[in-house]
Amino acid sequence: MRSALGGPRLLLRRLREISAESVSAQARLDKIVVQIAANMVAEVCSVYVLRADQRLELYATEGLNREAVHQTTMHSGEGLVGLIAKSAEPLALSEAQEHPAFAYKPETGEEVYHSFLGVPILRGGNTLGVLVVQNKVRRVYSEEEIEALQTTAMLLAELIASGELQAIEDPRDLALYRPATLRGSPMVEGVGLGHVLLHEPRVVVKQLVAEDISGELGRLEQAIDAMRAAIDELVAHGDRMGAGEHREVLQTVRMVANDRGWVRRLREAVMSGLTAEAAVERVQNDARARMQRQTDPYLRDRLHDLDDIANRLLHQLTGQSYVADRESVPENAIIVARTMGPAALLDYDRKRLRGLVLEEGGPTSHVAIVARALGVATVGLVPGLIDIVETGDPIIVDGSTGEVHVRPQPDVQSAYAEKARLRARRQEQYARLRDVPAITKDGVQIALHMNAGLAIDMPHVHETGAASVGLFRTELQFMLAPRFPRMDEQHRFYKAVLDAAPDRPITFRTLDIGSDKILPYMAKIEEENPALGWRAIRIGLDRPGLLRMQIRAMLKAGADRDLRIMFPMIANVAEFEAARAIALRELDHIKRHDYSPPRSLRLGAMVEVPSLLWELDLIAERADFLSVGSNDLVQYMYAADRDNTRVSKRYDNLSPPVLRALERVAEAGRRANTPVTLCGEMGGRPLEALALLAIGYRSLSMSPSAIGPVKSMILNVDLDEAQVFLATLLAADDGAPSVREKLRDYALSRNIPL
Ligand code: PEP
Ligand code: MG
Repeated sequence: MRSALGGPRLLLRRLREISAESVSAQARLDKIVVQIAANMVAEVCSVYVLRADQRLELYATEGLNREAVHQTTMHSGEGLVGLIAKSAEPLALSEAQEHPAFAYKPETGEEVYHSFLGVPILRGGNTLGVLVVQNKVRRVYSEEEIEALQTTAMLLAELIASGELQAIEDPRDLALYRPATLRGSPMVEGVGLGHVLLHEPRVVVKQLVAEDISGELGRLEQAIDAMRAAIDELVAHGDRMGAGEHREVLQTVRMVANDRGWVRRLREAVMSGLTAEAAVERVQNDARARMQRQTDPYLRDRLHDLDDIANRLLHQLTGQSYVADRESVPENAIIVARTMGPAALLDYDRKRLRGLVLEEGGPTSHVAIVARALGVATVGLVPGLIDIVETGDPIIVDGSTGEVHVRPQPDVQSAYAEKARLRARRQEQYARLRDVPAITKDGVQIALHMNAGLAIDMPHVHETGAASVGLFRTELQFMLAPRFPRMDEQHRFYKAVLDAAPDRPITFRTLDIGSDKILPYMAKIEEENPALGWRAIRIGLDRPGLLRMQIRAMLKAGADRDLRIMFPMIANVAEFEAARAIALRELDHIKRHDYSPPRSLRLGAMVEVPSLLWELDLIAERADFLSVGSNDLVQYMYAADRDNTRVSKRYDNLSPPVLRALERVAEAGRRANTPVTLCGEMGGRPLEALALLAIGYRSLSMSPSAIGPVKSMILNVDLDEAQVFLATLLAADDGAPSVREKLRDYALSRNIPL
């Protein structure tokens, strides 16, 4: 077998010299293909570049017909070159024309060449083009030669990405710069226009060719050692881990970092003449390309881990910080991350953030909870985004539709700018309603409360003019903590929340974990149906130690104040009684130990398990207040998982069965003189809120951003008339699955803003 002339090191050195010459980009590319052909002892060397329209264009050739340059094009997937671009894998053939994908291009005159070796030109897992060598004789290309050509392709990738080909074509024509629209899962409402800020910035490797191979090997070894030590340190000191970096993740990372095959490939890449950084990039490119084709989720994850490590290693080698420098966050930053711990998001300056896009992480991920609290437009589940963006690229995030526009065209840009302006204007109008009481046109006063779960939510109480915090989801704090919060930590937290709104009542809900709300530091229990499983008050009653600790912390925090606590997922009166007994015992304990007890203690039950609908009078009598969790109540009534997009929208909240059930709860509250609030998401949507008022609700708790829209609906409604209208609709009993359309038409006809 023949080996390449002079080897890859010599070639790389020659290519670097050519790159430094001050000639046009086309001339440089022409010289490069000549060099590669000579070095590989091939008659042909050609470079194809992927254009924005997804066609591959012949950009330079040695050996094929020169007239074909910039004339011959093929689409990705067409012919051998297209196959390589599509698969992002090298292809070596001793008889190209026998390959089923071979497509003959007469203008190139390539029919006389038999053997063919092509490799993708990759950058960040993205295919920018294809590099090909061909020989007249039938021959088998060695592994070494394939590797050498891949390394050479890296150099070309830099040339393409650096915009140096500008002289040849407008770089905007290249695939690398094309506008792209990706669709993900909407996570936090809002529109963000700005520029990409990669949460884990990519290291741009400038120096590809090694001056001193043994020196580079030494740098590589040192960086690997330092990186391993840093990971070991993180695993050993779990307490200091960011909430996104849990032990399991780090252990996987450590496993990969110790993988011998990986380290061997890195060494080989350096031996072939690359700097340590370039070697990491080379190996990472291969891994990324493989990852993009991988459909097995487990293997994909493992390759992701590899990518993570490569990134850490690159940062180690260049001494750059592993995560974006928070101090220098530009204005209008849109953070792009694969995943992100919630604490990491809190580290960024909120004022500069316009949006967040995550490759992984759905609406229930922890970072989504924080993003929601911060009001940052967020889209999740956008695979492949990181590979096609660079820090600084213009980007638009639409948190309502889940669309992400990368390098948008001017018309998209201006449409969204208009959308954002309208939104801002509407927000201003809502802000002006802050101190206006929520009273209907016919004089019925409605109490609007706010849902919260984090300390950062609390300023919204004042901004929105909410009457109180009607639901404080305490589990969020537990989900963000690196380990189970101790009693004094809980005490401090609840006190800080109460102090943040001294003049408004706060209804704390005890831990509602289980189902989708997982505490990462608690042993995970495999359940067939987690939503129907061991969760919320069920855990509280079976592990009373946890519930007692939480209640005690709340009672202490509520010293000399009015304190309200409610229990989630109460399925029957007996459960409420058991929970209440625990709370009263704790109150007793507080008093006996000379702590100041709260001035008053009100204990409530959430109505969100349908069984309670048949014990309504009893629960209304026993509880100090009721709060309807319509999110869960509706999911259980319809047996349709609220987080499963296939079924979550299948049934409508505004259906006769749901409205009748909700009406019963409001009636039972009135009979027993027990206050009833509804705190599920439907209370925050103007049309649904209108229906709720019409069936008797006078108190709703919702996310802060919903208060303005719901209040402006209330100010414009004649409730007496709306009540009659909805009652007539429900009385029709016509089997319609929803009254939404009719109610909306009614609202529109009355100019009620929705
Ligand atoms: C509900 O179920 O409606 C509710 C308010 O609680 P969560 O969404 O936290 O389950
Ligand atoms: Mg619930």
